[in-house]
Amino acid sequence: MRDLGAALQRRRAEGLYRRRRIAGRAPAVETVIDGERLLCFTSNDYLGLAGHPSVVAAFVEAAREWGVGAGAAHLVNGHTRLHHELEEALADFTGRPRALLFSSGYMANLGIASALCRRGDSLMQDRLNHASLLDAARFSGARLLRYAHRDAADLARRLDDARGEKLIVSDAVFSMDGDVAPLAELARLARARDAWLWIDDAHGFGVLGPGGRGSVAAAGLDGAGVPILMATLGKALGVAGAFVAGDEALIETLIQFARTYVYTTAQPPAQAAATLAALALLRDESWRRGRLRALIQRFRAGAAERGLPLMDSETAIQPLPAGDAARASAWSEGLRRRGILVSAIRPPTVPEGGARLRVTLSAAHQEAQVDRLLDALGEVVGCA
Ligand SMILES: *Cc1c(COP(=O)(O)O)cnc(C)c1O
Repeated sequence: MRDLGAALQRRRAEGLYRRRRIAGRAPAVETVIDGERLLCFTSNDYLGLAGHPSVVAAFVEAAREWGVGAGAAHLVNGHTRLHHELEEALADFTGRPRALLFSSGYMANLGIASALCRRGDSLMQDRLNHASLLDAARFSGARLLRYAHRDAADLARRLDDARGEKLIVSDAVFSMDGDVAPLAELARLARARDAWLWIDDAHGFGVLGPGGRGSVAAAGLDGAGVPILMATLGKALGVAGAFVAGDEALIETLIQFARTYVYTTAQPPAQAAATLAALALLRDESWRRGRLRALIQRFRAGAAERGLPLMDSETAIQPLPAGDAARASAWSEGLRRRGILVSAIRPPTVPEGGARLRVTLSAAHQEAQVDRLLDALGEVVGCA
């Protein structure tokens, strides 16, 4: 057996050791981590819905009526009326014929690849795609071809080398960078080369596009341009789980062949009820998206004033490049001493030399809290 201790020691020596911290309170803007009160800029709860009273009430009421566990997989007897209603609501919201729930985004991505790809097919991926998409390629047995970040010309070249069925997949909003994929170009290319296009909109769904319908709608694309749309329900929607939206044949194929759909317990029905409540808030109250946009602008303008280097992102994900992992950790630690929580993102989550602070903003933040972060960053990054 491999020497586990040696591998752990090596990771420690490289300054890449990861440690969990214990949140002693609901993960909201003001949180308690390892007993310390901190102002949080690390959450993907972009609209502040995770703790919203009507979402919580929907969860509690459904748990009273339906219990807390689904008890079985969707194909056994775990697929309740609440799950079904949520699927119909998501199909309607995304303007697709059907939608299918998964227990997590990670499982949705593995499921899509395993149902659609066979050995000998080609799965084309942006170099900075989320880890779950890279793992999905491995899980499916398809040949993985990575193209340069947001580079449709490089993708076109690699399509020349592709064998078998061709499937292109990209994050819509890149999770560690906050920039957006060239969706219209990808759709044009996919169509011209007879490839499928699959978009993971984990960080755009609920936030971007008309009515929060996501990055694909923001790019003016529908099911014809992006036939496979995946998004998660644990980020802007504030709950958990994920869905895939598409046409009848796609969804039936996933129900039959996606192993991460078939062989797992359905999410709790109360979770579906909470997600329905979050979706209703998304539909009825657009002010959260406007507020988030205003806070993003405030943060970027404040950073420019203070000479803080930001990456080129217009979304709620606002990274500050640090270069090496030790510097990113020192910045994060300096902020923590000032009562602010921002994660240092280090390899292997990002490429070597690409360590950064990953700031995320939420509609739940106050202007004064964003200013406090900016002042602290000015001190910490300025003197690093
Ligand atoms: C978070 C994320 C996932 C995984 O979703 P989970 O529901 O957390 O498993 C997949 N893709 C992207 C781009 C993500 O950011």
